Amino acid sequence: VIIVMAVQPEPNAYLIDRYLVATENLHADGLILLNKMDLAENESILTRLRDEYEKLGYPVLPTSISDAGSMHNLHQRLNHKTSILVGLSGVGKSALIKTLLPGQNIRVGEVSAASGEGTHTTTGSILYHLPEGGDIIDSPGVRDFGLWNTTADDVIYGFVELRNHAGHCKFSDCKHDIEPGCAIKDAFADGEISEQRFKNYKKIIQEYTN
Ligand code: GDP
Ligand code: ZN
Repeated sequence: VIIVMAVQPEPNAYLIDRYLVATENLHADGLILLNKMDLAENESILTRLRDEYEKLGYPVLPTSISDAGSMHNLHQRLNHKTSILVGLSGVGKSALIKTLLPGQNIRVGEVSAASGEGTHTTTGSILYHLPEGGDIIDSPGVRDFGLWNTTADDVIYGFVELRNHAGHCKFSDCKHDIEPGCAIKDAFADGEISEQRFKNYKKIIQEYTN
């Protein structure tokens, strides 16, 4: 899962963490792309993303469609794999694909997916073949890559630094809220998850689970 962010508009950490929860629950590998690097006045946004996410195992790749070297790096990452580009409209997903696959009418077909209601719907996503092998899917919006039927356990699983603490709370039915001996809160107190990620964890629990 290629999570596409851009220098402008600035990356949204809550959105990144939401995508990562979905990515982990798909048992896919996550990669964070910082596109439109040509618009960056300095490397501060890139550095911040790297500090937060690379230690968790998510590579952060700077790209610009006008920088052939960065496009080559991206291409190398995509070869022989099936990837999906996700991210807000305007971050450059279509432009990245056009740059990666120039001058070809490589539109292969629409991707359909099971919705939360159990029916198959057209997502508007497009799948392209890469010449060297591998496929890339352009997904049009956040809603198509959402968190359906997410449980609190799924959310904890989606935060790799919290995952190993699950099941170690004093109470087996711990809601990780006000209970004493909560391993999730202890993990935060011990600095095992950053303040920003913990804030997003709580927000996702609030917004996506009952
Ligand atoms: P999508 O909605 O994510 O598919 O975004 P688009 O591919 O339509 O790109 C949105 C706008 O950003 C277009 O005007 C692109 O030309 C521009 N864009 C995409 N990538 C870059 C980049 O690396 N640098 C700059 N400066 N503009 C870019
Ligand atoms: Zn707990």
